[in-house]
Amino acid sequence: MSNTNLTTSAGAPVGDDNNSISVGPRGPLTFDNHYLFEKLAHFNRERIPERVVHARGTGAYGHFTLSKSLSQYTIADFLQREGEKTEVFLRFSTVGGGQDSSDYARDPRGFAVKFYTRQGNYDVVGNNTPVFFLNDPIKFPDFIHSQKKNPQTNLPDPAAAFEFWANHPQSLHQMTILMSDRGIPLSYRHIHGFGSHTLSLWNEKGERYYVKWHFKTNQGIKTLTAEEAATKPAFGAQQDLVDAINRGDFPSWTVKIQIMTEAQAETYHLNPFDLTKVWPHKDFPLIEIGQLELNRNVQNYFAETEQSAFAPSNLVPGTGASPDKMLQARLLAYQDAHRYRVGVNHNQLPVNAPRCPVNHYQRDGAAAGCPFGHGNNGQGNQVQTSGTNYYPNDRAAQGYPAPNPAFKEPPLRLSHAVADRYDQLSEDYYSQAGDLFRLMTDDQKNQLTRNIAGGLKQANTSIQERMLVQFAKADPDYAARIKALL
Ligand code: NDP
Repeated sequence: MSNTNLTTSAGAPVGDDNNSISVGPRGPLTFDNHYLFEKLAHFNRERIPERVVHARGTGAYGHFTLSKSLSQYTIADFLQREGEKTEVFLRFSTVGGGQDSSDYARDPRGFAVKFYTRQGNYDVVGNNTPVFFLNDPIKFPDFIHSQKKNPQTNLPDPAAAFEFWANHPQSLHQMTILMSDRGIPLSYRHIHGFGSHTLSLWNEKGERYYVKWHFKTNQGIKTLTAEEAATKPAFGAQQDLVDAINRGDFPSWTVKIQIMTEAQAETYHLNPFDLTKVWPHKDFPLIEIGQLELNRNVQNYFAETEQSAFAPSNLVPGTGASPDKMLQARLLAYQDAHRYRVGVNHNQLPVNAPRCPVNHYQRDGAAAGCPFGHGNNGQGNQVQTSGTNYYPNDRAAQGYPAPNPAFKEPPLRLSHAVADRYDQLSEDYYSQAGDLFRLMTDDQKNQLTRNIAGGLKQANTSIQERMLVQFAKADPDYAARIKALL
């Protein structure tokens, strides 16, 4: 049969796709219009819930090429051999807007990298900023509510955004980056990426190292002022990335890491697991480890980019998380979001499917056994279909999967600690925001303070005063400039 026949979703050729069946040319439709019903019913279900944050995004495939073996720090297979390439999928995004919002919002940019390693997918799910607004996840829903649209007017609400920040000095560092000239990137090619969180690596001796990932753009940082951004089409950053890859102008990033030993983490004067703080380069220099290049656009935006499911819990042997409280929450929240949005078997979709055998005893659930992804994954395939579906079992000799103690993460040693709620109010949230302010040129300081004053003017005087106290603690000149503008 011709493969150009239009068919139903069940594969049956369709004779007429222009006319519904009606009782005479002027009469109502009949109940045997099942083909019409199929079309309408599927159309009604074309959308899945958009991400609550990072809804608007753009993804592309490429490669990470390792230039420095990390075998002294980790058993991670993809970090052993210099010159080895690992396929990646990278999704860029804005954070606060919906799927059809502008690419040019003043907003952090998501920078999520999925490394398809031979030992499973390793996801570094970060932003274009090395820090975040919060260091305790219990505040995340409130924070996002305050930054998204007003629930009554459905309009942006700068007063709410500043009310949250006035009550949370922990946000000052990230807010300074957001309001700076780097707050609106020219394109996704012209941003750095950061793993942001402190992650970890471990080697065959069972030694754990804490690590920060940095992806430094080889295209250079390029930004827009708010006035310039207002003239751009909403989809401009997506267009820029798709066009650059289509014309063979492949964007790339130099990949660097910072490394901290467990002993250093215990005594360093900053809490290395506080997501509102960087590790200063003078104490923890950047080590170049490779290049990341994007060189292939997606074939189908919905199937690949929209259904891509990044999760900080996608860790491979030789890598791990850290006590970073925000990261700990994301280990749960990201998988949970994908189960809700895409379904419990989201890792069977081609964009998410590991490029290695998948062997486990999980079964069933919506859309299990899809012909992509796990279809040819050997033992995994057998377990998913008719094989033994429990562990332990007596079938090791027949190749049924079993845990391998060589991949057990070393124990996490904690000094004597008491489980409680710790408010972190006495942390220093000002010095690093001040360091950043002092790095800026006069023009950058002007842009920063104008951007802040524009929003802060719309908040009440109590909020303005609390913000001025924060700016003054970071740098007296920071506060003075904003006060003059207010
Ligand atoms: P360094 O002088 O060694 O590093 C400063 C870093 O700041 C550089 O990576 C630079 O990156 C970046 N930077 C420069 N101008 C701006 C800007 N206007 N907006 C955002 N980033 C900028 O000092 P420290 O490591 O001690 O850090 C000082 C401050 O720099 C920090 O408090 C933090 O705000 C910021 N920063 C620090 C990073 C870190 O990991 N240590 C990473 C990014 C920012 P570039 O090459 O792009 O110019």
